[in-house]
Amino acid sequence: MKEKAVLEMRNIHKSFPGVRALQGVDFTLCEGEIHALMGENGAGKSTLIKVLTGVYGKDEGQIFLKGKDEVAIHSPQDAQRLGISTVYQEITLCPNLSVAENMFIGRTSGVCQNWKKMNTDADRILQSLDIPAKATQQLASCSIAVQQMIAIARAVDMDCKVLILDEPTSSLDEQEVEKLFRLMRDLRARGVGIIFVTHFLDQVYEVCDKITVLRDGKLVGEYEIKDLPRVKLVSKMLGKELDDMSDIKGESKPYDKDDQSAPVFEAKGLVSNAGIKPFNFYIKKGEVNGFTGLLGSGRSECVRAIFGADRVLGGTVKMDGKEVKIGKPLDAMKNGIAYLPEDRKVDGIVGDLSVRENIILALQVLKGFLKPFTKAEANKFAEDYIKLLGIKTASADTPIKSLSGGNQQKAILARWLLTDPKYLILDEPTRGIDIGTKIDIQKLVLKLASEGMSVTFISSETDEMLRTCSRLVVMRDRKVVGELSGEELSQSMIMSTIAGGDK
Ligand code: ADP
Ligand code: MG
Repeated sequence: MKEKAVLEMRNIHKSFPGVRALQGVDFTLCEGEIHALMGENGAGKSTLIKVLTGVYGKDEGQIFLKGKDEVAIHSPQDAQRLGISTVYQEITLCPNLSVAENMFIGRTSGVCQNWKKMNTDADRILQSLDIPAKATQQLASCSIAVQQMIAIARAVDMDCKVLILDEPTSSLDEQEVEKLFRLMRDLRARGVGIIFVTHFLDQVYEVCDKITVLRDGKLVGEYEIKDLPRVKLVSKMLGKELDDMSDIKGESKPYDKDDQSAPVFEAKGLVSNAGIKPFNFYIKKGEVNGFTGLLGSGRSECVRAIFGADRVLGGTVKMDGKEVKIGKPLDAMKNGIAYLPEDRKVDGIVGDLSVRENIILALQVLKGFLKPFTKAEANKFAEDYIKLLGIKTASADTPIKSLSGGNQQKAILARWLLTDPKYLILDEPTRGIDIGTKIDIQKLVLKLASEGMSVTFISSETDEMLRTCSRLVVMRDRKVVGELSGEELSQSMIMSTIAGGDK
């Protein structure tokens, strides 16, 4: 082991059916350091932590701890015993027990506990860590932030050497975050190694010493905070080198800043229950625009709010300048909005139904199920779109689940085009499909726009966004943080807007 390291994970592999979540990842944590584990959603952060804490067994690899050398961690109890503690976002304490009981639960052996001593000990620990709670107080009467600190105090008092905080700050306000950071720094000074998972870049730069970046289950690298400015961090997470940014020319009609016409769709202060900040957004007739940002930044949540797919909590929406109410997908559909969801397996295809039935589904919903299309009508719709989009299927009768991903995607697209929408929203329409279909879909988007349809496009591939969109709305940490059009449309501008700050 390296000098000063409290923990070393080497060559960790972990697969789930169909997913290689970790592929040979190395991770080293030193004494008295706060180490950020970064990566887009799905990069493998939580899996690495679950391997470390014994929630998942690893397929391959080794874990070393200071003073013990290689260790076997088969259960969360093993991890605890070895001084590895985790505080999850959802607090796993008992709300109806006292603070002290929560701190010592499961540790005092037998029934014969010395309550007085337990309370004094708890108060001493709380005081030394500057946590505003009393030993005898019921846990439920403490704020979430304080409960989290108590969970940390519990972990630390169990003599933890490695403390893991997986997205601990998501539900805290600024002051609470500050308090948590003070506690983290205090623990760092006592020699605890802290692994900090967060998607808030500001917080990483405020409190961390080192950053390890993962992407697609692989280690990208380990960096000292001072050597990795924010834009570089974003480029590492996205997997784009900053100096390899040959700019892609858009093929869409350039955005016209002086166009005074009323937007086809406009939202002000729109907010849903999916945890995004209220946002403003509009799209003009024949425009292709997009939401960009890291995976998990809130792109999908914004379009789901527009379509009424998540519960809308506030804001106003206008179509062609007239205020409308969109509370559910059917309202959106009746207003001429169509939405191709990100996860077509969950929200999109009905696997057991035929290609034809899948294609006519949205139009049938609009018409009402009590007035079904005749077989001949349905067949005509399906045949037209199978031809138009070049869907490769034996027939319209074939169950959609037997088609390739790309062809399924085209069928879902056909479903929405059949409703003749004014405004089409495509969330990751080209993910996981072959390059030929990808290009077909990009071309189709541009063609539809040239015929007057408005299209909002989300893609994790920024090249694809630059090729199709004339205006990009940039998201960070579930908030709209910028808008790019014209000359500003470039990889480097996207990355620096995502990165924010002044580093
Ligand atoms: P992160 O925490 O960085 O967002 P995760 O470690 O949660 O990423 O996920 C990494 C990959 O492993 C993802 O593709 C995810 O879908 C997959 N994955 C995670 N947990 C499971 C599981 N229990 N079963 C199947 N796949 C999983
Ligand atoms: Mg995670």
